[in-house]
Amino acid sequence: MPNVLVIEDDVDVRDAIGRLLTATGHEVRLCATALDGLREVAARPPDIVVLDLGLPDLDGAAVLSRIRATSHVPIVVATAREAESEMIRLLRAGADDYVVKPYSAEQIEARIAAMLRRGRGGAPAGLTVGGLTLDPMARTASLDGTPLQLSRLEFDLLAYLMERAGKVVTRRQLLTDVWPTESRSMETVDVHVTWLRRKLGERAAQPRYLHTVRGVGIRLSAPEQPLNG
Ligand code: CA
Repeated sequence: MPNVLVIEDDVDVRDAIGRLLTATGHEVRLCATALDGLREVAARPPDIVVLDLGLPDLDGAAVLSRIRATSHVPIVVATAREAESEMIRLLRAGADDYVVKPYSAEQIEARIAAMLRRGRGGAPAGLTVGGLTLDPMARTASLDGTPLQLSRLEFDLLAYLMERAGKVVTRRQLLTDVWPTESRSMETVDVHVTWLRRKLGERAAQPRYLHTVRGVGIRLSAPEQPLNG
């Protein structure tokens, strides 16, 4: 039974999500404050966290960073703030998905189901491309022996590209196969590719692994020659 931790100070929203998730076969823990939520994450790691960003005791983005400092648990953030800059800031801070308030309990349930499905997927064997290695089960990746700190989406993106190493993958394919919902924009794909590229320590102008194929998509392949130094 998937274990969902809901951190939400609005009692009506919290109860509605709690009821629906319980009815749809989830084990649900409800917290009204950020500090309670952080304690719960540490005490018994959940399978997924639903995090309201407007909490009374701590800024939502700060909560997000604190959870991310110790855990790779998937996090759906719920925000009333619709500005794209805010959303990008949250995805950068380690959120995996988001809903904009007001949202329905059904909407959260659908996001959670999609995320858990993705979490169970993935190739069983480890992947290696050049100096890149990735373990889909442990959800770890490293480059030249150095562990990579990836968000959940960045990890899924890298896994997808490594499984198709040497082949061009279109942005549409990424959006459909890797992103949790169809609602994601192409710009979001570009943003995540850029972040992944940065974490691999390369730039679009001087790619080693991630090659942009103009007008088509992205290809991941091993560098042709090792980088000096
Ligand atoms: Ca709130």
